[in-house]
Amino acid sequence: MEAFQETLALIGFAIVGFLFWYFSRRTCPSCKNTNFTELERQHLKTYQKHLSGSDYQQIDEYKVNFKCDECNHTWTDRVKEAVRLD
Ligand SMILES: [Zn+2]
Repeated sequence: MEAFQETLALIGFAIVGFLFWYFSRRTCPSCKNTNFTELERQHLKTYQKHLSGSDYQQIDEYKVNFKCDECNHTWTDRVKEAVRLD
């Protein structure tokens, strides 16, 4: 019975992981294609996000212009990238 519950939990995690990936991936707003090219990026700001204790993560925020490889639609999106401070 325990093994059955563990299997269910694993399947649950897999589904949640898949949904998170599915809804967080970047797609063309026009045709929902995932193949696109980054044309240019403009740095907006850099800020520090508090993680825990004395741990901080540096985040760079960009305004990025994308162009869809399928329908040539262009759009602008904000992209946040974590910078590892080692
Ligand atoms: Zn498109």
